[in-house]
Amino acid sequence: MNYDVIVVGGSYAGLSAALPLARARRRVLMIDAGVRRNRFAATSHGFLTQDGSDPAAVAAQGRAQLMEYPSVDWLSGVAEQARPAEGGFVVSVQGGGSHFGRQLILAGGVRDHLPDLPGLAERWGRHVFHCPYCHGYELNQAPLGVLATSEVSLHQALMLPDWGPTTFFLNDAFEPDAEQRASLHARGVTVEPGRVDSLEGAGGVEVVMQNGRRLALAGLFVAPRSSLSSPLASQLGCELEDGPLGSFIKTDAIKATTVAGVFACGDAARMAGSVSLAVGDGAIAGVAVHRALMGLA
Ligand code: FAD
Ligand code: MG
Repeated sequence: MNYDVIVVGGSYAGLSAALPLARARRRVLMIDAGVRRNRFAATSHGFLTQDGSDPAAVAAQGRAQLMEYPSVDWLSGVAEQARPAEGGFVVSVQGGGSHFGRQLILAGGVRDHLPDLPGLAERWGRHVFHCPYCHGYELNQAPLGVLATSEVSLHQALMLPDWGPTTFFLNDAFEPDAEQRASLHARGVTVEPGRVDSLEGAGGVEVVMQNGRRLALAGLFVAPRSSLSSPLASQLGCELEDGPLGSFIKTDAIKATTVAGVFACGDAARMAGSVSLAVGDGAIAGVAVHRALMGLA
């Protein structure tokens, strides 16, 4: 089947991009592997009217409303290859055939690469977080920590006191200079030198230091590196941009990539994302793609 648009990624960004196209009665194929970045968290915060909602329920409602439009098809699976073809692109799906779309929207998000610390991965999204705006408030101003991964963690440590008394675990990953120490001191941050051995505890995080010290926290924040979930942008030759935490797809003000006919939105196409920003980016991309289909771009 030939589509006007193929959207790779059927979460917040992809769903939002598809909606204006569906409402313009365009033929849209959604391809989605169903692995959202926030699947580890039970609640999502900061998205208007859905503050505190289950992030899976928000995505499911978005999908159900989109699929009311008869010109939209949904394919569950992993898009493994995209290549240019006469008048558009062909996308191959693992075990799901090849599909033609005149325009392509990449909304596959990113993958987090968590620090390799015993006890961390199983607490990700529950007691270990990256974004204080998303999960800081619910920690109720109890003791918090930041685990250094690089210099980026300094900014996290300087922010966090607004959410609770903060300990900055250097873990041999970052060494603040005198000026940075003065900034940390001014914000009331306690600096904990030495290496962290592991995380333990239930209902919070107990940080176990290699020197045997143990510190009980309500939550620990880390800034993991991220990478694009899908290789499609690179296969197509879309230019990437390097951010402090990883690369993302370069886009312009209407979310067009550097390859004609390919748009990108959500976490895959910005430095630091959120549900609100993914939805906003998706809306921009969807309308821009519709304009391109009408030859108005
Ligand atoms: P995603 O939601 O990650 O979705 C990408 C989709 O594309 C997935 O379904 C994936 O399977 C699919 N996909 C990828 N590659 C392919 C492929 N090749 N073929 C087919 N499908 C593919 N943000 C907030 O605003 N509030 C919060 O409270 C919040 N909490 C968070 C908690 C945690 C633990 C984490 C890690 C993140 C949190 N975020 C939060 C950030 C939020 O998850 C992202 O900003 C948001 O999910 C980005 O939406 P997206 O649609 O760009 O990508
Ligand atoms: Mg349909």
